[in-house]
Amino acid sequence: MILLDNSLLQLTEIFNEVAPYKVKQLYSWLVRGYDFDEMTDLSKEWRLKLADEHIACPVVLYRRFESKDGTQKFLYKLSDGNMVEGVLMQYKYGNTLCVSTQVGCRMGCKFCASTLQGLVRNLTAGEILGQVTAVNRFMGGDVKERQITNIVLMGSGEPLDNFDNTVKFLQLVNDKQGLNISMRNISLSTCGIPEKIIALADLNYQVNLTVSLHSPFQQKRCQIMPISERYPLTSVVEAAKYYFNKTGRRIIFEYVLIEGENDSEEDAKQLSKLTRGMSCHVNLINLNPVKERNLKPTTSDNAKQFAKKLGVSNTIRRQIGVDIEGACGQLRRRIMADESN
Ligand code: SAH
Repeated sequence: MILLDNSLLQLTEIFNEVAPYKVKQLYSWLVRGYDFDEMTDLSKEWRLKLADEHIACPVVLYRRFESKDGTQKFLYKLSDGNMVEGVLMQYKYGNTLCVSTQVGCRMGCKFCASTLQGLVRNLTAGEILGQVTAVNRFMGGDVKERQITNIVLMGSGEPLDNFDNTVKFLQLVNDKQGLNISMRNISLSTCGIPEKIIALADLNYQVNLTVSLHSPFQQKRCQIMPISERYPLTSVVEAAKYYFNKTGRRIIFEYVLIEGENDSEEDAKQLSKLTRGMSCHVNLINLNPVKERNLKPTTSDNAKQFAKKLGVSNTIRRQIGVDIEGACGQLRRRIMADESN
């Protein structure tokens, strides 16, 4: 069993033959990213038994790349040999870790590298949490002095397509006895699955919802995001409004600018119309080119023009970590290809 899949309460029930204070010690090691052989205040006997039957560190740092701008990219190895990626961005106010929720993805967005292989499998809650515990430890962090202050669920995978594990992860990472990262410091990014957005809203967490919009026209959106055929734009926007009404959290719309696809004046005007009157912010991102796809980023001049015409609160996201393959999914693919040769 991946022990990080469980809360302290659950662990206490699982190890009900062990004194609760010992289970508490175990939990404290787990959430700090330690393996059994390092848990020096537990008996050797119990540690050996635990190691025989369970996994303490479901996510192991496998490779690390540092960008000139300080951004770090991690490739992690999971217990079954699968790999996922993560990015650590350092800001003045703290460090943000971008985590993956699935190995691969089945949403099929045309501009995204994570979907090229399809969905391999869901990550468990403990495997999502394990990314945070591993990087927090690597950066010299602890539970009291965390090195990770913010989390974005924007790595590979569609979090709402792995709803139960994602929700469990949110609870675990927010646990007062664990890393205790505030829901307000977590952003969940989705391609837009209305019924799951509504289910998340009904949980009434204070998590920020980020919706990947990428086109204000239903037909065009379907061309770059095939999932839009099943979940039309209007129902996604309705669900986003529901989320805001329920939680009071301002919605962020992500919009990747792709030359000739969604970066015209008409697109800007329609996007403005679509989001008018909503409590929202538009995050404009220039496309990270993905080799396998024939799509190009817009020019930076056009990005500025687009932002101006929008007339809705927006920012053009600063490109970070471009020299270490910013686009999610790229790094994993390249290293796996290199290693199979
Ligand atoms: N599945 C979720 C989260 C993962 S993608 C979602 O769709 O939101 C996180 C963000 O990165 C999304 O807004 C996605 O559209 C964007 N993205 C994907 N590929 C990109 C690329 N090549 N360049 C720039 N942004 C990209």
